[in-house]
Amino acid sequence: MPVPFVDLSSQLQALDQPLRAAIDRVLDSCAFAGGPEVEAFEIAFAEFCETRFCIGVGSGTGALELLLRAADIGPGDEVILPVNTFVADAEAVLFTGATPVFVDIDEDTALIDPDAVAAAVTGQTAAILPVHLYGQTVAMSSLQSLAAAKGLMLIEDACQAHGARRENRRAGSLGDAAAFSFYPSKNLGALGDAGCVTTNDRALAERLRMLRDHGSRERYVHELLGRTDRMDGIQAAVLGVKLTHLDDWNSRRRDLAAHYLRELSAVDGVRCLKEQDGGEHVFHLFVVRLAERDRVRQALYDIGVETGVHYPLPLHIQPCCAHLGYSEGEFPVAEKLASEILSLPMFPELLPGQVDEVVDGLRSLV
Ligand SMILES: *Cc1c(COP(=O)(O)O)cnc(C)c1O
Repeated sequence: MPVPFVDLSSQLQALDQPLRAAIDRVLDSCAFAGGPEVEAFEIAFAEFCETRFCIGVGSGTGALELLLRAADIGPGDEVILPVNTFVADAEAVLFTGATPVFVDIDEDTALIDPDAVAAAVTGQTAAILPVHLYGQTVAMSSLQSLAAAKGLMLIEDACQAHGARRENRRAGSLGDAAAFSFYPSKNLGALGDAGCVTTNDRALAERLRMLRDHGSRERYVHELLGRTDRMDGIQAAVLGVKLTHLDDWNSRRRDLAAHYLRELSAVDGVRCLKEQDGGEHVFHLFVVRLAERDRVRQALYDIGVETGVHYPLPLHIQPCCAHLGYSEGEFPVAEKLASEILSLPMFPELLPGQVDEVVDGLRSLV
């Protein structure tokens, strides 16, 4: 039986009726861009994240960029972020006119290395942007102290960590503000693009509400230079239905991860990334390390097992970042991991028997 990397269809089938009812409600109301469904979802997601405010926008990338702009980050400012992440983090910083300052990652978790962050702070640093990659929150305490001591914004990229916890607090409530993506394959996914910002800061929330809607509070009076970046009503209605299942889906992801960890501990040549104490990983991705990654990946594909690589090129060697002047060899941990990491099939509806198939495939190939 082939094992897909992600399968969205079984979840959609299970929720077919409530999703269609939610979409019908929006069709009846004609509130397509913003509106009551968006407001209701914002309240529900803020409550879920244990924050005071949630501002729905058009994508995770939009959330990151508008958040940086709402925090007044721009030309002359530096923002510290990990090299091993999705390109959106670099794009968001660059589009504000600020300078991304890349730092290396921790070898055990592949998350931003807090010591490297401390070493990268300069007089120009305005913000730190840790990424809760693969579903695991960054251990924030040293970053929180550093940000407080130096007066820096601490902004979470929580696009892969809906529902994850650190010291019992949810991702999205661990810094000054956080960006989430609801891209369809995320732990909480829309039926298209959507995103949001969570924060406890009322003034920041207010600015974000303006920036997503052409900088206006009052119609046709544009106080700030904004743009079109609203969440749409259909996505909000869909997300409201799915949010009630998120904790359950995350706990299934955790069970599947425990199953992988148990079985893979007996497979020589495959190392799993570490789940740090003091948190609750929600396994957006289940990532292992192996030598000859590309050969094994192709051989798995040939026996029907789909995998991914997140991410094959660290940001400092992405063509779109060439003008920043970094060179290969500057971030040895991230560069080594980029050639070894493999993301195995992971989604809540994955069957334990399919996990066994993936593990058997790996055992015979490494
Ligand atoms: C998905 C993702 C984003 C961007 O979200 P979009 O909704 O696709 O714009 C940003 N950062 C990380 C870590 C992501 O995984």
